[in-house]
Amino acid sequence: MTASSLEGPAFTSKAADVGSEGPAADPALIAELVLANHILLREGVVDAFGHVSARHDKRPDRFLLARNMAPALVTAADIVEFDFDGNPVNAAGRSIYLERFIHAEIFRARPDVMAVVHSHSPSIVPFSISKKTKLLPVCHMSGFLGMRTPIFEIRDHAGYSSDLLITNSKLGAALAHTMGACNCALMRGHGSTVAGSSLREAVFRAVYTEVNAKLQSEAMSLGEFTALSEGEAETSARNISTQINRAWDYWVMKAQGKA
Ligand code: MN
Repeated sequence: MTASSLEGPAFTSKAADVGSEGPAADPALIAELVLANHILLREGVVDAFGHVSARHDKRPDRFLLARNMAPALVTAADIVEFDFDGNPVNAAGRSIYLERFIHAEIFRARPDVMAVVHSHSPSIVPFSISKKTKLLPVCHMSGFLGMRTPIFEIRDHAGYSSDLLITNSKLGAALAHTMGACNCALMRGHGSTVAGSSLREAVFRAVYTEVNAKLQSEAMSLGEFTALSEGEAETSARNISTQINRAWDYWVMKAQGKA
């Protein structure tokens, strides 16, 4: 990597605002995005790193994501609006996430996606580096994974000396391409990204992708294991998707220290 590419705008965590603020996002959506940050922390999906975004409810060509900070500390005032090139609209000089291009390019590629979670949750990373074992849906809560969870190999796009981060639109688009129509993509040696048709669904999937990875690893320590069949994955995903609010309500209480 040349010095100039390190100094380019894609590498900085600050960027000038581009475009103008349109209609304000629904305050209820922003409040839910703040809660999503806190839930993902409490449920062990994010720590000081990782982020969650929601598509703007009035501007489908934009999305909402916190400024560069630990998810635990996010408040409504920290939510920034972005375009699909990863430009902030109203950051006003505040630091922004280097990996905002993950969100931008998935929203661009997938009109069905309304929210994205990117994390380094620890049980998933081993499946991103294993040469032998694939992540499979192993319990009824994680049928949404389907029978194929793609792995993004950043070396195919950034060579052998990258920092493994998705720091520009080109890498974001490559990740979105690898993800295809799947709900989850693993990122080799880094983490994972999940998508949902709502913020609550994306959070649910992020939590249960981590749970599933942990269960699969535990099962493998016992020997051979049985994964869901394709039909079981589809049927359970369809039925469990109606129960997401039950999990959300509980997780909100936990995140607020009330449960
Ligand atoms: Mn990351």
